[in-house]
Amino acid sequence: MVTTSFTWPVVRPRVVVSRCLLGEAVRYDGDHRASEAAAALAAVFEVVPACPEAEAGLGVPRPPVQRVAGGGEVRVRGVEDPGLDVTAALAAFGAGFVQRHVPVHGMVGKARSPSCAAGDSPLFDCAGRVLEEGAGVFAAALRRAWPGLPVADEAGLARAPALFAGQAAVFAHWQSLGGTAAPREARLQFHAAHRLRLLAHDEAVLCRAGRLLLADPAAYIESVMQALARPPDTAGHERALARARRRLASGLPAPRLRALDEVVAAWRAGTARLEAVRERLRELAAEAGEADLAGASYLWPHPAEAGLSPAPAGCAGR
Ligand code: SF4
Repeated sequence: MVTTSFTWPVVRPRVVVSRCLLGEAVRYDGDHRASEAAAALAAVFEVVPACPEAEAGLGVPRPPVQRVAGGGEVRVRGVEDPGLDVTAALAAFGAGFVQRHVPVHGMVGKARSPSCAAGDSPLFDCAGRVLEEGAGVFAAALRRAWPGLPVADEAGLARAPALFAGQAAVFAHWQSLGGTAAPREARLQFHAAHRLRLLAHDEAVLCRAGRLLLADPAAYIESVMQALARPPDTAGHERALARARRRLASGLPAPRLRALDEVVAAWRAGTARLEAVRERLRELAAEAGEADLAGASYLWPHPAEAGLSPAPAGCAGR
């Protein structure tokens, strides 16, 4: 009997969290923005608190700053005093942070912050018009250091904590293999482990990522992490379950396949949780000697995903 399973190599992924979200009074106005979702991360992740503005020596309280485009680059300047330019101080803090905290597997940053935002920090022109929205300069520095790093804000985390946990767990696995410097065999192993998970999230990305895997590891992991940032819908789970069933069809007697079909039907009817389907698939993959399927991360959610899943209402779990 095949007893292969997927073993997550990093039990507690390391996640950077904005200190103001952890209830620390480090904002420019001396306040905080405590987030229950951010506080809950400590139960399943190794949390690295960071406030780039305070830790770069800008003080608390301090003049508010914003991202401003000029001369082909993004600078961080005072809102009330455009002559105040803290770009260099924040860049130096970011560079030192990257060196001190290797590896990092995710970040939860305060929305709209010029330093910490995941993607909605406004970028102003010199006339005060918003040109676009993007990552804060600290979040961007972390993403440059670790291509594909999952970054969420407090609202995204509160909406889908298990989704962020899954991203961080997968990214931790990637980093454990060497990240973009991982050898060819390790990249193939990574892709095989997460193929079914990716299929559930985004079939088109799965096809594209397969082509990038060996040619461009940074683009590969960026596309994988973007796909994993979108929750799988019912159709996505159906795709993954159908693929798994096809793998089992030739190696199992009809009554055992029926046992799978029954639990899938119960899941569709809302009387069984997806976890029950996964459990049956794990058993059957071992029985059928399907080592690849038995080792698919889709069947073995990371403990952090389970730890941040909301308690089920009823047993639908879809
Ligand atoms: S958003 Fe970032 S820089 Fe601003 S107070 Fe919070 S942790 Fe500090």
